Amino acid sequence: MKLHESSRKLARRLEAGTARIMSATLRRDGGRWHVAFTVQVERRDRAPAPPGSVVGVDVGITHLAVLSTGEVIPNPRHLSKTQNRLRRLGRALSRKTGPDRRSGQRPSQRWQRAAARLGRAHARVSNLRRDGLHKLTTRLAAMHGTVVVEDLNVAGMLANRRLARHIADAGFAEFRRQLAYKTAWNGGRLLVADRWYPSSKTCSGCGAVKTKLALSERTYTCQACGLILDRDANAARNLAALAAKTTAGSGPVAARGADHKTRPSGQVAKKREPGTAPAGKTGTVPPQGQDCL
Ligand SMILES: [Zn+2]
Repeated sequence: MKLHESSRKLARRLEAGTARIMSATLRRDGGRWHVAFTVQVERRDRAPAPPGSVVGVDVGITHLAVLSTGEVIPNPRHLSKTQNRLRRLGRALSRKTGPDRRSGQRPSQRWQRAAARLGRAHARVSNLRRDGLHKLTTRLAAMHGTVVVEDLNVAGMLANRRLARHIADAGFAEFRRQLAYKTAWNGGRLLVADRWYPSSKTCSGCGAVKTKLALSERTYTCQACGLILDRDANAARNLAALAAKTTAGSGPVAARGADHKTRPSGQVAKKREPGTAPAGKTGTVPPQGQDCL
């Protein structure tokens, strides 16, 4: 068996006896075979993130994210180029003779080759996206004891067709999932702002709330105090400010811990994130050791 990507990290752990493979799953995707190992790992505790450090993160469309520090995290390199290629390959495929169940038409050789090319391009886009998200969430969890994000109503936004592709692209749900288990690894916490908290419409300077803010307005201009700030940076600052309100003691104001979602029944939802075993020492790692055969 020969792997395309490095499996050294896993091999070293197996040799050292700090990892045990529980199961393996094979999958074919984008013209390649993948094997995902479920591994029980004994990890040393990570260096704790500075507990006092708070960051608000506004996950965006034109950028991957904007932080309350003012830093702008761009989308992964080559992502838009690969997306253009994806569209071109999709059009090329539609011009070729594909399979037709009704007439019994078999797909042509050209169609099959074009379909394979399209599949590989799809895989590349999702790889680029996942890589960008992992780098960002690892850094955020390592540098900040508290990370505050917005609870985006993804289902509602997906109904809006123009936003839909971007939302799906940015992978908000995946972003939150990664942040939840990585902040736990670093002894930090993830706060999720209430869905109705107006992070974009609120002035991060004086707290005034606008009644309307069009999506096209990229700059926040406060009529009350004269603050002028990038729209996303303003939202990120508001999110960061929520952390202080939740630590103040009087219970969650507009934010709540991501791991403590309260269900209508009053029960606390169980954490789904792997790698956050209650004992803290051992836990299953999400299938990040995905290697290609
Ligand atoms: Zn203001």
